[in-house]
Amino acid sequence: MQKSHLFTPGPTMVPGDVALAGAKDMIHHRTDQFKAIYVKCAGQLKQLFETSQPVLVLLGSGTAAMEAAVDAVVAPGEKMISFNGGKFGERWGKIGRNLGCDVHEVKYEWSDFAGVDKLEQALKDCPDAVAVFCQLNETASGVGNPVKDLAEVCHKAGKLIVVDGISGLSAMKCPMDEWGLDIVLTGSQKGLMLPPGLAFIAMSEKAQQKMAGHGARLFYNDLRAQLKADGKSTHAWTSGVSLYQQLSVALDMMLEEGIDNIIHRCHVQGDAVRAAAKAHGFELLNAASPGDVLTPILMPESVKASEVAKYCRGHWGIYFAAGQDDYKDKIVRIGHLGYQDHFETIMAIAAFEMAMKHFGLDIELGKGVKAAQEILMADLEEQERKSAAAG
Ligand SMILES: *Cc1c(COP(=O)(O)O)cnc(C)c1O
Repeated sequence: MQKSHLFTPGPTMVPGDVALAGAKDMIHHRTDQFKAIYVKCAGQLKQLFETSQPVLVLLGSGTAAMEAAVDAVVAPGEKMISFNGGKFGERWGKIGRNLGCDVHEVKYEWSDFAGVDKLEQALKDCPDAVAVFCQLNETASGVGNPVKDLAEVCHKAGKLIVVDGISGLSAMKCPMDEWGLDIVLTGSQKGLMLPPGLAFIAMSEKAQQKMAGHGARLFYNDLRAQLKADGKSTHAWTSGVSLYQQLSVALDMMLEEGIDNIIHRCHVQGDAVRAAAKAHGFELLNAASPGDVLTPILMPESVKASEVAKYCRGHWGIYFAAGQDDYKDKIVRIGHLGYQDHFETIMAIAAFEMAMKHFGLDIELGKGVKAAQEILMADLEEQERKSAAAG
């Protein structure tokens, strides 16, 4: 017998109730019945994004929302600044160029982060940029970016700030309105505990005004059309009905747990995985600015990360992600987001230790597990105390 345990930073594990909701009878998307689900989810998505603006739901993976964002706020020939510290930062530039934008890319080492100093320099080098594009968490490196600080610099310079929160949203803090973010977007298959297939995007009033100033290059994911449809609580095209049924259940679960509690859970599990790696003397690629979505553990020369991921998946049903591009064989990425409890995190660490032993490292089994247990147990007891105090 072999189960599938997904510790990949997307797709993540899907709760049984969410999976079941996808099997409900099909309903038509232009009916009051569907509208009721639409309206309920719309309210809950605003809570998740911490915004008063509508959160538009697109059919497609997260990249669909990234492309829609560029289309919406950067007209052809206009300049945009994009941070590229990994595979997903790189994508901003590719999308921008594909849509005819003049891309000023800020490229840096994957172990580094999108800091204020880099942004200030980019604004000097490219003062005409209309918008700045970044990641809340760069999933290729596990690096978390100081989005709040970047937003402040953007405000002072009169630039829009667009945040790819595809892996970061609901694992790390990102209150859209409080931080004055102009676009925040995410996908369904990471923190939202859903299968892949939906993308979510919210725009500030400023971003909406900017969008109104030029025509769309995209037809299907034209946010002008989606925003107009949202005014009537419907989608421009056929809705992803089954995914919506699932979304409705997932949002209920998330809001019952509480956004701040989810973020706390991811942080504590991140601490546990980081502590486990350190207990064995491993270095982390994201040490300079760790995000709480995943932990990228650097492999010694003798161990190929892609082989580790392949072995764990094939033999144990444990899904880790290896690295991408130059880091393909250099890092093993262990996710701690979505539908993952503390005990599953212990499982991930135990499997990682076993894998390292299998690949010939001199590893004391249980050393990292113990370091993680201390952290996770302290958190469980703290939660227990809090709920007892709350009666
Ligand atoms: C996963 C991910 C993407 C790509 O999303 P898709 O759903 O694969 O299109 C983009 N950015 C970040 C930060 C991601 O984690």
